[in-house]
Amino acid sequence: MFDYLIVGAGFAGSVLAERLANGSNKKVLICDKRPHIAGNAYDCYDNEGVLIHKYGPHIFHTNSKEVFDYLSRFTEWRSYEHRVLASVDGMLVPIPINLDTINKLYGLNLTAFEVKEFLEKVRENRAVLRTSEDVVVNAVGKELYEKFFRNYTRKQWGLDPSELDASVTARVPTRTSRDDRYFTDSYQAMPRHGYTRMFEKMLDNPNIKIILNCDYREIVKDISFRQMIYTGPIDEFFDYRYGKLPYRSLEFKHETHDTEKFQTAPVVNYPNEQAYTRITEFKYLTGQEHRKTSVVYEYPQAEGDPYYPIPRPENAELYNRYRVLAEARSDVHFVGRLATYKYYNMDQIVAQSLTQYGKIAGMKRQEATSLVLEKQPAIKTPLYSNGNGVRVNVSGGV
Ligand SMILES: Cc1cc2nc3c(=O)[nH]c(=O)nc-3n(C[C@H](O)[C@H](O)[C@H](O)COP(=O)(O)OP(=O)(O)OC[C@H]3O[C@@H](n4cnc5c(N)ncnc54)[C@H](O)[C@@H]3O)c2cc1C
Repeated sequence: MFDYLIVGAGFAGSVLAERLANGSNKKVLICDKRPHIAGNAYDCYDNEGVLIHKYGPHIFHTNSKEVFDYLSRFTEWRSYEHRVLASVDGMLVPIPINLDTINKLYGLNLTAFEVKEFLEKVRENRAVLRTSEDVVVNAVGKELYEKFFRNYTRKQWGLDPSELDASVTARVPTRTSRDDRYFTDSYQAMPRHGYTRMFEKMLDNPNIKIILNCDYREIVKDISFRQMIYTGPIDEFFDYRYGKLPYRSLEFKHETHDTEKFQTAPVVNYPNEQAYTRITEFKYLTGQEHRKTSVVYEYPQAEGDPYYPIPRPENAELYNRYRVLAEARSDVHFVGRLATYKYYNMDQIVAQSLTQYGKIAGMKRQEATSLVLEKQPAIKTPLYSNGNGVRVNVSGGV
């Protein structure tokens, strides 16, 4: 008899399994249809021994000390600030757009003050920021929008920015300084030994049993459990009663090259000519030293594994219909990005899962996490903070 059946061993399922087992002494069965734990954050060594992220680059960043401290129970960290270049007009320039981007692109030598004036001149005032196009054109004008955003968005989402919710590009900043960091969160770091190792530590408890390669529907009738935590797609749970929730998918093409370095930045974005959107070179992210190097190309697809919920009003409405069904199920807790049909970063999923645990255990979130602090001594490691203070928007997106 299990207290909980948890469907999905990604961040949502694993945080809840850990909390229920360590914090409430519950017996948990966690199952995943994939052959591994860690969900989309799964990393592994490829045939050449290079540490790669199977489902595309996962960069950890957060403004939440609570989330960072919680995960620090299970991993040491490696300081890492992410940087991205974009291939535009035959040049590699920093993205988000900053002072150097403008100077390099237009062969100028503007100061921070002058670039502010430059952007003031080229931007087009849009009274209402309804779509992604409105947001970008309002900030940097039509030309930079065309060079950096329009085709990239079309590739990534299969939709023109004018058809996409403002929220998709609202979080892309424009800088007049030379700051070329992709994120400005207070905590930016990668698990020193990788994500999968961190998940192994989270799930290392005799009260947690793990079944892999197993769709929960294959076992749900044969095991006894009191409650379910479901982190899979919400529409699938209800047998697509109201139709399918649309997702954007990706195909990942992994390659290993017989050279120490493949490109000059961790990620290079290709907004225009190529079918792929970006190339990531993993050794930058992981800090691994190896005489070969592995990269991944990302090709956006309409069909395939569900990766990005498509933020459009009609999809939100469809999700809300499923949410009503979910709320009527007191025996099942719906948690995580697929069960709540929302693009969340890893830190947001950890926060959501800790809140959910607090609700289940009848305690406030802070109490819910502090319980673990007493039980398990933290792995002592210097925290990395860029000293920039807190940024309002926790999400950053990649
Ligand atoms: C390409 C890409 C890059 C990203 N990069 C970043 C980044 O840099 N930084 C960041 O913070 N976030 C990033 N994210 C977001 C991050 O992946 C998510 O926040 C996180 O993985 C969500 O965790 P989850 O547990 O909700 O979902 P998942 O990790 O998807 O876990 C859900 C699990 O449920 C399993 N499952 C589903 N249905 C069933 C079933 N019927 N039976 C059994 N198991 C089932 C799935 O196999 C899956 O393993 C990225 C996402 C993508 C797609």
